[in-house]
Amino acid sequence: MAHQKAYDSFKTKKSVEKKKRAKEKSGKVNSDLGDFVIDDAPSFGTVIAVRYGDAYVLYDNEVLIASIRPDLNMVCNKVLFPGDRVTIQIENGKTIIQNRLARKTLLSRVKRDGTRLDDSVGLTKNIAANIDIAVIVVAAKEPPLHERFIDRYLMILQSSNIDAIVCLNKCDMATDESKRLDIYREIGLSVIETSAKEGIGITQLKDCIKNKQAIFVGNSGVGKSSLINAIMEQDEIKTSSVSGKTHKGCHTTTASKYYIWDENSSIIDTPGIRSLDISSFSPIEIQDYFPEFDDWKRLCKFNDCLHFNEPYEACFVKQGVQSNMISRKRYDSYARIIGDMLNKPYTE
Ligand code: GDP
Ligand code: ZN
Repeated sequence: MAHQKAYDSFKTKKSVEKKKRAKEKSGKVNSDLGDFVIDDAPSFGTVIAVRYGDAYVLYDNEVLIASIRPDLNMVCNKVLFPGDRVTIQIENGKTIIQNRLARKTLLSRVKRDGTRLDDSVGLTKNIAANIDIAVIVVAAKEPPLHERFIDRYLMILQSSNIDAIVCLNKCDMATDESKRLDIYREIGLSVIETSAKEGIGITQLKDCIKNKQAIFVGNSGVGKSSLINAIMEQDEIKTSSVSGKTHKGCHTTTASKYYIWDENSSIIDTPGIRSLDISSFSPIEIQDYFPEFDDWKRLCKFNDCLHFNEPYEACFVKQGVQSNMISRKRYDSYARIIGDMLNKPYTE
């Protein structure tokens, strides 16, 4: 069993390296996108869902099915994600995507494909583009509130440079959970309290996401759909709902929703965002979301160093923190996640 594992990760590593080398040889590492990406355009549509070869583009209050101009020879689902902005042209009755605007942010999840600690086996799965703000939703009661969920969402969002706020929903149920969120208030995060059921705090929530492209993340059952519904009920301009068959066949369906609740304010809800599954992280992947550790962790004595209970002399991440080259706050947040996962206290 152990041998099998080692073999699998070795294979993965080799094939990733081989691909990398092939790309380098063909000089395509950075020029893959040719002239597809442009800085700005006078008018553009927003991608709200992507299938293999085409994308649903919301343009002028209409949802169009579009494909990328053929000379680029690109598959939609490799280069476009919900939230991307694109310019389009109608040619012979077909909607053609001409260009994609440069992205402000790209939300991605690093997925490890091997069992060993090795940077080259991390695969990135992109989820959505141009997200301005994420609302991390937790519930005052049911499902129970755990700081580690918030920490992990924050970690993914921070690594993609996306602002976040915390929303404590179901505040119609009297509990003490609000106090537990003081640690987030202290680090400068906005914490708002809502009840989708009773319409409490919805105006305040809207103020936070106005003129932004937002996503709602949080465990199932916390009330994300109810909150989005509460926002839409107050100011409904348009809900674009997309449901289509994937390229692979009729058994899987793609269901992405894009809500516009005010002229420049939207909410993206895609299965990818829904399944931004934080429960499956392993301790060793957490450091992928702290890129500022990269230059230091390479020097650590053990190549599976968790920068946690390893001796100070053997861990360069800890030394980086000590010499103020890595933020203490960020490291503390990291150590809290690891400690929680290992169920062990942190000892310096
Ligand atoms: P999602 O999985 O995060 O989208 O959660 P839902 O919006 O589907 O809500 C899960 C359950 O919580 C449903 O039974 C809702 O009726 C309930 N719920 C949502 N918001 C509230 C709230 O503010 N107060 C209470 N008491 N229940 C709520
Ligand atoms: Zn270390």
